[in-house]
Amino acid sequence: MIKDSPTWLSVFLAVNLINLPNLAYCFTPCFTWLGLTLWIFSIALTLLACVFGMRVRLLLWLAVPLVLLVPACLASLFSIQSLPTTFLILALLETNQTELSALQVQVFFAGLGTLILGLLYVWFVKTRVPAGFRLGPVARVLVVLSLLIPISYDMIASGHEVGLAGIKQRCLSTFPCSTFYGAYEAFDIRGRVQNRRDLLDNLTITQEQAFKEETNRQVHMLVIGESATKSCFGLYGYDRQTTPLLERTPGLLTFQNVSCTAPCTLIAVPSLLTAAPPGKLVEATRQASLLTAYKKAGFKVYWLSAQKKHGTYDTLTSIFSADADEDHFISGKFDENGRGAYQTAWDVSLLPLVKRILDRNESKVLFVLHTIGSHGPYPARYPPELARFPADPQTVMDALFRISLGGIATPEELALAQNSYDNTVCATDFLLANLINEVKKTQASSWVYYVSDHGENTSTARFGKFLHGMITRQVVEVPTLMWLSPAYEKAHADKVAALKTHLKTPFSASCTFHTLLDMGGLSCPDFKKERSPASPGFAPGPRIVCDANGFIIDYDKQFPVQPDAAQAGLQETSDKAPKIAAELQRP
Ligand SMILES: [Zn+2]
Repeated sequence: MIKDSPTWLSVFLAVNLINLPNLAYCFTPCFTWLGLTLWIFSIALTLLACVFGMRVRLLLWLAVPLVLLVPACLASLFSIQSLPTTFLILALLETNQTELSALQVQVFFAGLGTLILGLLYVWFVKTRVPAGFRLGPVARVLVVLSLLIPISYDMIASGHEVGLAGIKQRCLSTFPCSTFYGAYEAFDIRGRVQNRRDLLDNLTITQEQAFKEETNRQVHMLVIGESATKSCFGLYGYDRQTTPLLERTPGLLTFQNVSCTAPCTLIAVPSLLTAAPPGKLVEATRQASLLTAYKKAGFKVYWLSAQKKHGTYDTLTSIFSADADEDHFISGKFDENGRGAYQTAWDVSLLPLVKRILDRNESKVLFVLHTIGSHGPYPARYPPELARFPADPQTVMDALFRISLGGIATPEELALAQNSYDNTVCATDFLLANLINEVKKTQASSWVYYVSDHGENTSTARFGKFLHGMITRQVVEVPTLMWLSPAYEKAHADKVAALKTHLKTPFSASCTFHTLLDMGGLSCPDFKKERSPASPGFAPGPRIVCDANGFIIDYDKQFPVQPDAAQAGLQETSDKAPKIAAELQRP
């Protein structure tokens, strides 16, 4: 091995050229030990075929196509601090010419880099790596150990199942597997979106006579909240004035006992928009959504989102945006400076967009607004002028960081974080009151329905303060509101009367699809009238919640009604240990 040292060095350099994205990832945006272990793992993985006797130079020749992808991966890494993932590839596939022009500098350097690196690699392998060179026994052992040590560590530390999952995770976190898998998933998701278009063509929809004969303009709106807990809404008895505008909104219906379908967005939102049961994500992507049904019934359907279109926690939700006639995502755009930044807009920035669409005077309109609501980091969710409680943004961010470390935050830091969370609710109050006002101005026959995807633990939580992803009362019990226009109340008094009898009835947010179809007098094969509180025969069924790990629980059995505890916002855990969903790692 010693006498082969120059060859060894050449092989090491050539393998590192292939794995340059993994090496760069160690230091982007700063050095991490995890990045270092992934880089070693990726080097060993590249050389795995040589352990079984393959000549090294043959392997390096076969890797030429990978080397050609390296500059593009580096451009991605330096632009958005991420190797190309499913979501970046999807974003690029859907990026229009104008948005792409923002990335022209990266595209130019990636192209130039591809040419230079490709030529350099070919010259290097041809001149420095002997044709017959194979790995010796010591090198083979080193490669095998580099693969086995991290896998064994995962298995010993966390068990067989986690260990196996760790192998997949390590492969999918490193170039080139991450890029190929990302491309595969991106095209798979685009295929599913295409299938949803076929769903629309094949959907059979019927409408009640009273709605067919309606001569009023019809403007309806579903607002999907984010991480809003009922216990911090003044409307629900919170001792702070967080919803003053909604409290002054005449005729607002406040549903007192609605549970979410899951404690994280990814699982919760599909079961609001479709008839699929909580947790059945694939089933949801194959079913007609609320948007499909209204579109088929002749409504112009708009999806307006303050969340990103693509990202680990966004893409599955955004599949449903393809059901709309128009979708607008005001966050996560490539910015004008070509930094590919994922900025998040405020929810209130959706208001001008709503106004512009309403000015089109279309006779039948359905809006679905997907808000960012009260998702952390809280100071980023509201403009300063909507803050009612003192919360200096940087101090709150520091406090949230210390709280996330568990148990070391002071009472002052908890109070500060609570102030900031409450300010997000104030911003939601402002948004909803203004949306209702805009819809009211149209004098149309309308409903505006607000339901949060799930709640959030607050400062009173025993564990997981200011997080979601686990099953607690504050996470599961969500604010749910409905406003009806005078024209709607007059034309459909029977539905309004039924709704008013169910303000205290416990039901699941999985009734949303059925409720809102019923509110438009619509029916389709997946529709169940008995799941709508607007129907006299409302039979809500058990309140099923799918936890972040896919386990199904009956909420009322695990959390028997204890009104005093619920009112006080006390946290009771399920019999499982608290599970922090992957969503919690979202920035
Ligand atoms: Zn969410």
